[in-house]
Amino acid sequence: MVINTMLQKTFVVFCVPLLLAVCAKPPSPRLELALGTVCTVNLFEGGNAQLYSDIFSRIQEIDRTMTAFSEEFSDIIAINKQAGIEPVQVRDDLIAVLETALYYAALSGGAFDPTIGPLVTLWGIGTDSQRIPGDAEIAAALALVNWRDLVIDREAGTVFLRRAGMALDLGAIAKGYAGDEAARIAREGNVQRAIIDLGGNIVAVGSREAAQNGTEALPWRIGVQNPLDERGASIGVLWVHNASVVTSGVYERYFVSDEGKHYHHLFDPANGYPAENGLLSVTIVTESSTIADALSTVVFVLGFEYGKAVIDSIPNAEAIFVFDDCRVIITDGLIGFFMITNDAFTLDL
Ligand code: ADP
Ligand code: MG
Repeated sequence: MVINTMLQKTFVVFCVPLLLAVCAKPPSPRLELALGTVCTVNLFEGGNAQLYSDIFSRIQEIDRTMTAFSEEFSDIIAINKQAGIEPVQVRDDLIAVLETALYYAALSGGAFDPTIGPLVTLWGIGTDSQRIPGDAEIAAALALVNWRDLVIDREAGTVFLRRAGMALDLGAIAKGYAGDEAARIAREGNVQRAIIDLGGNIVAVGSREAAQNGTEALPWRIGVQNPLDERGASIGVLWVHNASVVTSGVYERYFVSDEGKHYHHLFDPANGYPAENGLLSVTIVTESSTIADALSTVVFVLGFEYGKAVIDSIPNAEAIFVFDDCRVIITDGLIGFFMITNDAFTLDL
């Protein structure tokens, strides 16, 4: 994939020297390429070289198990190859992630669909075969997208796609799961404070500063990506303790047609096109990074009204909606914990 080659080059040119510099001064932070993006782990207290490598081996293992795009064998690729033929034995952790994916597919009435694979391949966004497909091609791909035809047998440990040509794609949830796993390993290693950043999916472990006799713990300050600007540029800042912050937006992967129209990678299974509903991005704040990742895609595809209703119905889940007219709306639980820092955007309360 183009994006992978680009990332690899970027990695060699920029990250390897940085990595070497970092290695000379262990233990913080460390970065590796995985899950199609740059993953950075920063263990602020209690981190050691062994813990960093345990965390990255786990992230790489999740990548190998869950990728849909690789020459190497992955459980997902095996399931896709056997679609319409027979169930495939997979690891327990993949069963759990697929069950979560099915839960959010049902909750969103199919706006989130882990069987989106045929549509992702057809559009090829971020690859050298990206293009605007014809209506008949879109209809044919959509006919193969249906989460109800994903059969999980927990007892047997198998997964089956009922019809030939169907394909799983966990792009909307795998990074979230990897974030939770990284945080679990860090916590089990007695790390009190850490920031795990998997291509913009953030897991903030603990607090920026622990509570000390009489003083309260200080929260982490997490920048919320500006969907109209380069990666790292933010529209505002969030204050959180022990939370995942995950954004889905039009800026992650897209191409611009000859007519100047942007086509991004978050598809609406209702029509087979990138979801168009006035949103530029949705950021979810909640404890589990798997759930935050799934919800960021659920809410982006559902759009503001339905998406906000979903978030309001889930305890301890909050959202930041950024619209194409630069308005920003936040859910009630974030009032007092989010501040706009970029004048181009306005908070609409
Ligand atoms: P990112 O991977 O850029 O952080 P997301 O978590 O929102 O963003 O995931 C986007 C990916 O999810 C796409 O690249 C594609 O693989 C997959 N996807 C796209 N549309 C849907 C959808 N409606 N339901 C489930 N997965 C989707
Ligand atoms: Mg997501």
